[in-house]
Amino acid sequence: MMLNGTTAEIVERKALRINAAKTCQPIGAMYASLGIHGCMPHSHGSQGCCSYHRSHLTRHFKEPVVATTSSFTEGASVFGGLANLTQALKNIFSIYNPDIVAVHTTCLSEVIGDDVPTIVKRAKEEGAVPEGKLVIHTNTPSFVGSHITGFANMVSSIIKYLAERTGETKNQINLIPGFVEPADMRELKRLTRLMGVPFVMLPDTSGVLDGGLDGEYQMFPKGGTTIPEIKSMGDSIATLAFGHFTSNPGAVTLENKHNVPSQLLELPVGVGGTDAFIQALRAFSPDGAVHEDIAAERGRLIDMISDMQQYFHQKRVAIAGDPDHVIAMTKFALELGLRPVYVITGSQGNHFEKRLHELLDPVVPDAKIKQQADFFELHQWIKNAPVDLILANTYGKYIARVEDIPLVRFGFPILDRVGHRFFTTMGYAGAIRLIDQITGALFDKKDRTCPEEWFELVM
Ligand code: SF4
Repeated sequence: MMLNGTTAEIVERKALRINAAKTCQPIGAMYASLGIHGCMPHSHGSQGCCSYHRSHLTRHFKEPVVATTSSFTEGASVFGGLANLTQALKNIFSIYNPDIVAVHTTCLSEVIGDDVPTIVKRAKEEGAVPEGKLVIHTNTPSFVGSHITGFANMVSSIIKYLAERTGETKNQINLIPGFVEPADMRELKRLTRLMGVPFVMLPDTSGVLDGGLDGEYQMFPKGGTTIPEIKSMGDSIATLAFGHFTSNPGAVTLENKHNVPSQLLELPVGVGGTDAFIQALRAFSPDGAVHEDIAAERGRLIDMISDMQQYFHQKRVAIAGDPDHVIAMTKFALELGLRPVYVITGSQGNHFEKRLHELLDPVVPDAKIKQQADFFELHQWIKNAPVDLILANTYGKYIARVEDIPLVRFGFPILDRVGHRFFTTMGYAGAIRLIDQITGALFDKKDRTCPEEWFELVM
């Protein structure tokens, strides 16, 4: 039977990782690169990594994901990847003709210590990079951090390489949205536009990984932040960065490089998270007023919460996923009256535990909070004291099935559903969708399992 090796008895593990709640850096860097218009992500290492990362993104987004690889052989692994990357750049520009190549590394090229900037410099001298084309890079050692680290590293590097300061401040803000869905990026942009605030968003995978079918394959779709837009980020008034782990490093890089002040926000999930975003936008909007459509959406959300709160009150919840998502989701769960008792991320970073203790200690003092945790351990906790609901990515479905617990899919990756790339979970509208999903999951279980005399027509 599925997961029947998971025991209720917990033996402390020091070395064995089972059912990790994270993946490795390069996939995050690949996702960030896809948010640049006309960009070819390039994986400097052996080709297995690249094909895994492409297929994993494709399974999540149900879209083609382009990326190239240096295709290391054993020889390159010993003598270095200079020839591979040089040849790769020649081939990429002559065959696929991107505007920019964004190179990230794998554990192999990191272990052998390839000096990517020097290789790229020599490749340029050899004429491997045509005039007017760009090559940028970031180091993404897989044995450090997680896919979230890789995403943050690539965003920082894009800014470091490309953002410029002309001396003339532009009336715009920068939005760094974090490792979120294209639909979430659309929602952040919609709210910013409604508030009348000009902006540049980096990265922006809307229009890249949520495209429609029009009969013609576009290797480089219309979406993505353009290179002139990225350059202009150094002239912006300010940066709003969403997520301590995914976006703050890029915002700090820009602040250090071009003195663009930044404000760090948590992902705008739920009432408080979205309120903070709208408040931040008010400082840059022409009259400081909240657009009436946004106020109306907030009202609808509050109405839905008050309609449904009796179904949420004190329900025990397990939340697992990427750190910025989990922090934001925990805040929202508390707003709904849910009781987050287990909160984990596979990623590393003390801010995760510190912030969650701030949120949970006053209301759920016995909550188990853990960074660098895995789904095996979460399952053991659940075996010892069950929960009513799991909020996690697709990998939560195994625990959900064997323990018969409703699961709402949230975060990355979602490999077995389709709506996530089109329907946001951010903003007031996204919170309404989440409530719809949570109540649906809870009610479905009640309908399926309750005694007949409790089988209700109206809920
Ligand atoms: S852990 Fe290393 S070898 Fe495995 S996919 Fe990631 S980069 Fe490639």
